[in-house]
Amino acid sequence: MIQRNKCIENIKAAYLFPEIAKRRREYAAAHPEAKIISLGVGNTTEAILPHIDQGLTEGAKRLGTAEGYSGYTDEGFEELRKKISEVFYTGSFTVDEVFISDGAKCDIGRLQLLFGAKTEVAVQDPSYPVYVDGSVLAGAAGGWSGTGYQGITYLPCTAENGYFPDLDGLPKNALFYFCSPNNPTGATANREQLAALVKAAREKGVLIIFDAAYAEYIRDPVLPKSIFEIDGARTCAIEVNSFSKPAGFTGVRLGWTIVPRDLKYASGESVNADWARVCGTIFNGASNIAQWGALAALDAQGLKEMKELCDFYLGNAALIRGALRKLGIDCAGGDNSPYIWARFPGRDSWDVFAEILEKCQVVTTPGAGFGPAGQGFIRFSAFGHRQDVEEACARLAKLKG
Ligand code: PLP
Repeated sequence: MIQRNKCIENIKAAYLFPEIAKRRREYAAAHPEAKIISLGVGNTTEAILPHIDQGLTEGAKRLGTAEGYSGYTDEGFEELRKKISEVFYTGSFTVDEVFISDGAKCDIGRLQLLFGAKTEVAVQDPSYPVYVDGSVLAGAAGGWSGTGYQGITYLPCTAENGYFPDLDGLPKNALFYFCSPNNPTGATANREQLAALVKAAREKGVLIIFDAAYAEYIRDPVLPKSIFEIDGARTCAIEVNSFSKPAGFTGVRLGWTIVPRDLKYASGESVNADWARVCGTIFNGASNIAQWGALAALDAQGLKEMKELCDFYLGNAALIRGALRKLGIDCAGGDNSPYIWARFPGRDSWDVFAEILEKCQVVTTPGAGFGPAGQGFIRFSAFGHRQDVEEACARLAKLKG
């Protein structure tokens, strides 16, 4: 019989979210009367707003007409790539530097193909699980050591360092996944921090994969929304982004990746050209309907709707943060991001998860699931209906004492 891929063997059995879902199911089975509220996952809950929805609907209708029909679109509609460059990057990228994807997570997984199994990988610790798990699947990391995967450099992001890692620990010639606004800590790197990151990357030959999936949640005008606001980033960074969280496209699936032409491998060859090759080889382009929706999201009315949707979730985040602070629980995030990172010093985060589920019937995410430095933390997600969030906040008072 065929052999199992060793890399899959290396993946720890319990991926975070299935484990949470299992524990929720077990609790629900034991307490059938409980009305469980989830502040656990990063999935969006609110309806797509009307103008953007109309873009999707009209896109679907076009496919039923001879004039409007289109097939494969490879790297994406040229009009959409141009619009993304204009709206998010002051027009500073040419269309061939903008690649339309079926979502940021999918591209994060595929990007590993550019670098191969011998690549050194570094992550912020804690971090969004796909950076590490995707590296394990690609063979760039080994088995589970009990606290982390062998071969991954974990750079702790703690309350003490303001959730920004010590860049002295960044290995040379590595791939470094960096997310801002951060999932799970909710921390958003400022301009000086990103400038230090770019400087360190250039000095050490590091390639940054900058995940900006929550950029539209930034409300502080001085905070950078893109790594490309920093001089020098074009020679050391790729940016992934998504319509999932600002437009509610988690199920529609649409994102983009910027691979600058200035980005080169050690050999001097173009990363951009290879990315076009990878996309053409194993990805046949994103849905046309989703791309028409994205075009609607990027006109004046669509941008207004995306802001409205992000503001709604940020309103939830403010309620959760307020409820936690009232209980004297120290927390970060929730101001420029939809995640609140709450600190329970000296406690096991799965124990705190269980306590919140038992006392409040609220599902959260244990910080330890995001990496060793997440131990002692709980992530609260602001993705929920307002009524549920309000009720969950009221129930959190049961944690007192
Ligand atoms: N990047 C981060 C940091 C995320 O938290 C998520 C989803 O939760 C994604 C990417 C996934 O984005 P997409 O839906 O575009 O695949």
